Amino acid sequence: MIINSINNCCYYFQGAVNIGYVNSGENGLLIDAGIDKATMKKVLKILKENELPVTYLFITHAHADHYGGAAYLQNTENIYTFAPAIEAAILRNPLLEPLYLFQGNMPLPEMRNKFLEGEPIVVDEEVAEGYHAFGDKKFQCIALPGHSINQFGVIIDEVLYAADAYFSEEQLHKHKIPFIIDAKATLNSLNLIKTIECVGALPGHGQYETAFQETVEANITYHLEILDSIQSIIDEQKEEGISHENVISLVCEKWLVELKNISMWMLFRTAITSYVTYLVSEEKVELFISNNKLRIKSK
Ligand SMILES: [Zn+2]
Repeated sequence: MIINSINNCCYYFQGAVNIGYVNSGENGLLIDAGIDKATMKKVLKILKENELPVTYLFITHAHADHYGGAAYLQNTENIYTFAPAIEAAILRNPLLEPLYLFQGNMPLPEMRNKFLEGEPIVVDEEVAEGYHAFGDKKFQCIALPGHSINQFGVIIDEVLYAADAYFSEEQLHKHKIPFIIDAKATLNSLNLIKTIECVGALPGHGQYETAFQETVEANITYHLEILDSIQSIIDEQKEEGISHENVISLVCEKWLVELKNISMWMLFRTAITSYVTYLVSEEKVELFISNNKLRIKSK
């Protein structure tokens, strides 16, 4: 892991999940905390080597790969933690993530892994959209929901730390179907990011870019392609519709996704259902129950 500098106070640790860092004199703010203790240990080691302080933490959204290292950070340093509302509730009660992914059922032990559930953390302040400060350094919070219920991006010194509101093109193709819980909110957030005036942006997975608008546009195109492919799968079964289970299976087949375990099934079932509910809100498809099964047909 290395620390990259963006300007004279904004940095990021590049890894499987990027971690932002902003220095302001005696204070330092980490934006997200990586997946686990080992990641956070590396971050703290590099900060110490560079004599950079860490006093604040901002968690953008309650996905374990972004906050799993936070408990270790809070246990070893004196940290004041910010998080958006709702995400904060999950950060304090991380069982909620595998619980909602398993449709509200108590998850089985195999679903309670470090990718889906981190250790609970303390959130000192639930932040709303707008301006806040760590020490005397101002930052702006902007709601970027869609990938999670109330994900926030952070703008500091004209740098947007965008969390998982968009992905690098490489990441999009790697995941094939990106994780989202609300396709409409995802598209709205992407359109909003395009209008933000800043010198560059860093996604949670990918590289810092000054011409980030092109990557954001590629994300929009990619989501629309997935929506089209799902619509055509549903259209093919016009008369009797298609079961929700079969939609998941056919969409995975079409996008070459192989569900290798129940955790993957939970994530992809959620993402694909998000696109389906977008089509419902556009009045292009409808959900109904037949023979005790959830089915989908085009309108
Ligand atoms: Zn995420």
